[in-house]
Amino acid sequence: MPTDNKGLEPGQLPHDQLIDLQRAHDVRSLKECHGCRQIGQAPAMLHVDVLWYHGRCYAEAYSEAALQSLPPRQLCRLQIGDVGLKLARRIIEQLSERDHA
Ligand SMILES: [Zn+2]
Repeated sequence: MPTDNKGLEPGQLPHDQLIDLQRAHDVRSLKECHGCRQIGQAPAMLHVDVLWYHGRCYAEAYSEAALQSLPPRQLCRLQIGDVGLKLARRIIEQLSERDHA
């Protein structure tokens, strides 16, 4: 098993624990992350310029500010287990500010 759980933020899970395969159909949702090259599930990943990313991998490659500037329809797909509690809180605050603007 890869030991990528070192340095995880509170709330974050190793990449392989983010995958939840329950139906045969779910296999179709598997995408390779352009950041870490591990597998993720499309509904919980960012899709930017035809590339797929875990939220944390996008933030690592381009910064958290860049991640937060993505459209809300992308941000609301992210899982706490991926981005961690701290960033998830900031994203939720940001999304709810937009809702009430
Ligand atoms: Zn990744």
